[in-house]
Amino acid sequence: MVSQLIETARKIVIKIGSNTLADSKGRINASFMEEFALQTASLMKKGKQIALVSSGAQIAGLSAMDKWERKKDLHYRQALCAVGQVELMAAWSRAFAAQGIHIGQILLTRDDFSDTLRTLNMRNTLFTLVDEGIVPIINENDTVGVEEIKIGDNDTLAAQSAVLWSADLLILFSDIDGLYDKNPKEHLDARLVKEVRDLPSIKEHISMGNANDFGTGGIATKIEAARRVLSYGIPMILAHGGRPGALKALAQGTQEATAFLRQ
Ligand code: ADP
Repeated sequence: MVSQLIETARKIVIKIGSNTLADSKGRINASFMEEFALQTASLMKKGKQIALVSSGAQIAGLSAMDKWERKKDLHYRQALCAVGQVELMAAWSRAFAAQGIHIGQILLTRDDFSDTLRTLNMRNTLFTLVDEGIVPIINENDTVGVEEIKIGDNDTLAAQSAVLWSADLLILFSDIDGLYDKNPKEHLDARLVKEVRDLPSIKEHISMGNANDFGTGGIATKIEAARRVLSYGIPMILAHGGRPGALKALAQGTQEATAFLRQ
């Protein structure tokens, strides 16, 4: 199912969570980015259009300003994102440049989506970038958004972006293979749910544990993202982004994931 969804989609939004972008030391994982850019390039050669939503500004900021590690004050965290956003984009730029692809940065806040003129401009910019073969990289503008830092809402941002761009598919890359009946980090016997068709009742069948170290959204925001895109007829895949060649493997049907589909 997952491979079919990728096969038939032309416009794909891919969200990469901070857990996927971080290496075991909590630094930005450049080799992951290079490998990801390579796989994106190969999908683009097949005629797919890709837009990314990339978390990781805080992690990239910490890599650059490690002396701020223990500063939890909100202003420091926002300042950290300002530093980290540059590092993050520099790392993405290097990764995609190796494939001869340019990237474009789009920083958005929640308010942008409730303003008709702004949404129109965002949409036009997205279409123009993609038409020119540029990969847009969307992130929340943490410098102006306060609560965004706390709820780590890039799942929602990715869903909103998919709707805005009229995407055919949303892929959320996390550090788990998909939705489980219970938190796989806490329960070894947790079972992967491969297909979700009845989203409204899913919460009755699964239990949601806490999010882990870097991620702040947790599984609930991913389910909410699915609800949002599905209401516009856009399917969603939740998958492990850290597995070697994950994007390619999903496209070839050799990696398991959860597909959220219309009823
Ligand atoms: P990311 O930073 O990649 O967006 P999050 O940390 O926000 O990821 O959310 C994913 C985490 O949600 C998983 O690592 C897992 O520990 C946790 N989780 C809790 N309950 C579940 C569940 N039922 N199925 C899958 N993951 C779950």
